[in-house]
Amino acid sequence: MQTKNDPDIYTTFQAICKKFNLKVTPQRIAVYDAVISAHDHPSTDAVFRKVQDRHPNISFDTVNRTLNTFAEIGVIDPVEGHGAPKRYDPNLAVHHHFHCIQCGAIIDLYPDMFKRIEIPSELEKKFTVTAKRILLKGYCARCRTEQKSD
Ligand SMILES: [Zn+2]
Ligand SMILES: [Zn+2]
Repeated sequence: MQTKNDPDIYTTFQAICKKFNLKVTPQRIAVYDAVISAHDHPSTDAVFRKVQDRHPNISFDTVNRTLNTFAEIGVIDPVEGHGAPKRYDPNLAVHHHFHCIQCGAIIDLYPDMFKRIEIPSELEKKFTVTAKRILLKGYCARCRTEQKSD
């Protein structure tokens, strides 16, 4: 898993920005920092609040546009099937998601938790599959405990 302490993550970030001619400004680094240090697939609002600590003059619109740009060039991933508000994922390694329908937690699940996911041969004839992601929904451990105690 990628973490903020992993120096490679910044190298990758800068390399992708360079490839797309995107200047690595202090504000963009602050937005990227806020996403990778969050570990909870943060929303635009959560990223904005975090960036504001260090850059009090940054606007919500700037943060929103920066996140959209990051998603377009593939530095971060918008979390699929979540609707509004959009959530962002800095973890570009292959992994799956569990969405808690009560508290909104999005928890990373790793491929070794699942047996090989086989694509049915009739689909392989039709499509070229380049990525597979399992999306599970339900109650996280904490919300399940709360439900039981009701
Ligand atoms: Zn929950
Ligand atoms: Zn994730």
